Amino acid sequence: MNFTARQNKIINIVKEFQPITGEEIASKLNLSRATLRPDFTLLTMVEVLGARPKVGYYYLGNHHLTNQNIKSLDMSVQEVMSLPIVTEEQTPIYDAIVSLFLEDVGTLFITNGGFLTGVVSRKDLLRSFLGGQTEETPVGVIMTRKPKIIMVDKEASVLKATKLIVDHGIDAIPVVSKEEGGDLVVGRYTKTNIAKLFVELIESN
Ligand code: ADP
Repeated sequence: MNFTARQNKIINIVKEFQPITGEEIASKLNLSRATLRPDFTLLTMVEVLGARPKVGYYYLGNHHLTNQNIKSLDMSVQEVMSLPIVTEEQTPIYDAIVSLFLEDVGTLFITNGGFLTGVVSRKDLLRSFLGGQTEETPVGVIMTRKPKIIMVDKEASVLKATKLIVDHGIDAIPVVSKEEGGDLVVGRYTKTNIAKLFVELIESN
């Protein structure tokens, strides 16, 4: 739904000063309460604002996706991805675990000669110890490997990348650039990226 400039101003005032009365909003806009009445009616009707007698208006944020929002799901994944954390196959499990802590990630992308060959997640590392691996075991032994890797080309849309994460129930996918020798890891797209994008989309209304 597209709001008028004045309605957007009202929403922003309520977000900042809630709960706030209609009188107070009107005085901040140098307008009369009566002038704003149709705006209040509309904004409460579509549940962007809530109204409590004697308390005032508060923000409900029930924004529906606007065309503008939907367009941003069309932008390419490279515009929203994070930097990848990449480890070579020979890296011992111990060093891989240290990287998870140091880099504050849950998934490592594994390469051989610089090109993507696998993925190691938190659970893979935990499982490897239950399965009797030692901390010197190379991560290449325990990784999920190609062709099972779910990845996305850097030019792919945010929507496509998000669907891959949802459909496969995984936390992260490597964003790659296809080169002659293989897939070069250029980024990571994660559930955190999706959560941040969601907040931005709602708040940009
Ligand atoms: P967690 O360890 O927190 O459960 P995930 O749910 O992402 O993390 O991983 C679950 C399993 O899926 C692991 O065995 C992991 O190796 C695998 N996995 C994770 N990401 C991918 C991916 N992009 N492609 C293929 N397999 C993956």
